[in-house]
Amino acid sequence: MAQDWQRSISFLKDALGSSTAEQASERLQPRHDNLPRKLSGATRVDEVAVQRRWETIFSGDDSVRELLADPASMAMAERYRQNIENFIGTVKVPIGVAGPLRINGIFASGDYYVPLATTEAALVASYSRGASLITESGGCASVLLSEGVVRAPGFAFSTLAEAARFACWLVGQFEELRKEAEATTRHGRLKDLRLTVEGNHVYVIFEYTTGDAAGQNMVTIATMAACEYVVAHTPIQPAYWFIEANASGDKKASYQSFATVRGKKVTAEVTVPAELIRKRLHTTPEKMVDYWRMSALGGVISGTIGVQGHYANGLTALFLATGQDVACVAEAATGVTRYELTENGDLYASATLPNLIVGTVGGGTKLPSQQACLELLGLAGDGKAKAYAELCGALALAGELSIIGAIAAGDFAKAHERYARGRGTDTGDLHALD
Ligand code: NAP
Repeated sequence: MAQDWQRSISFLKDALGSSTAEQASERLQPRHDNLPRKLSGATRVDEVAVQRRWETIFSGDDSVRELLADPASMAMAERYRQNIENFIGTVKVPIGVAGPLRINGIFASGDYYVPLATTEAALVASYSRGASLITESGGCASVLLSEGVVRAPGFAFSTLAEAARFACWLVGQFEELRKEAEATTRHGRLKDLRLTVEGNHVYVIFEYTTGDAAGQNMVTIATMAACEYVVAHTPIQPAYWFIEANASGDKKASYQSFATVRGKKVTAEVTVPAELIRKRLHTTPEKMVDYWRMSALGGVISGTIGVQGHYANGLTALFLATGQDVACVAEAATGVTRYELTENGDLYASATLPNLIVGTVGGGTKLPSQQACLELLGLAGDGKAKAYAELCGALALAGELSIIGAIAAGDFAKAHERYARGRGTDTGDLHALD
């Protein structure tokens, strides 16, 4: 967290402004006077509760409230109840569609128009261009390779010897732990148990499959039941323990998840004819491979986990549209993109994403407009999560093709200028990125 001292001093000088050190220090002190009104009834979403919250938080123009607590949002309020506290309305994020995206997967098969919710200009245009390129190439293969969601409780003992004895006892309890965990869920299955002893601490990694749910709540509830069994039966009592010891990779990119799986692991590939690269991206496969080589080393030099261009752009927009936990982009947007020149001079491209924490039931997927987006894809509800994961892989591949094409062709800045700054004319068929 250290940074260049001249920049630090310059920020501190700006922060102090014309005040003395004493005045600045006074401004940063805790204040206990005139505490503001607390919010109440956190889980209520009815008109009265919402109105009361607005009276507490805002005294400005009514139009602000009307934009957020609009009639459509209030009519659906009950459907939001289990997904939000202190509800005051909804924010409207525009959605565009990228596609057609032809996927020749094991679970996802067909031509998809993918809803993307974003406030970022050029994003939908870019993914749409990549998707069309894949489709014109005959589609991409996209394959789910493995699944697993972990919860990682930690147990503390007085000594390493106690920790080791506990670990030895625990590994013999797999069947009991599985029964306890699976009694809490119809769809969660405990698949594996891994241990790490560190001094007098034991980290226990419980790994599950979670059906069509992303599964973070499911594995938390199941692991809690297993841990309660552990503390009730272990011959070596821990001094203390926690349900999650921050070793699961939940909501953060980690080498452990990258090297194994977190959620769903998918790989997608396409071979794009050189002629199409010239026609649609205005560059060549050779130039794109040159760029990919340099960008792969750029990723190594800057220390990224995996090497990829911008998985986060498409995944965030898709997650937002379809009710995924958007914070999981922190872990989902890791992976490896690879480009190669084929013997014919065409472009081989692949994208592999090992940490797709996604679902088609549970979480935000049942919210009104989010469920509508899943329905638009034909991927709402039971039996669809594997196909949804393959779609994520294909979408990421589309985004990689488009961005690397734009950079290789020298169009990257031009496209953003045209879409984000409104300079340029075309709005009809995405020619700005052609
Ligand atoms: P959830 O909505 O809590 O649980 C999924 C529910 O759907 C379960 O009740 C499950 O029943 C049911 N279900 C019905 N059909 C299913 C099917 N075909 N496959 C799987 N489940 C089915 O969602 P979750 O996926 O477990 O958790 C995701 C949420 O957890 C996200 O909103 C995320 O933000 C949040 N989260 C929680 C934590 C945490 O530590 N608690 C951490 C990060 C994120 P059964 O259980 O009986 O199978």
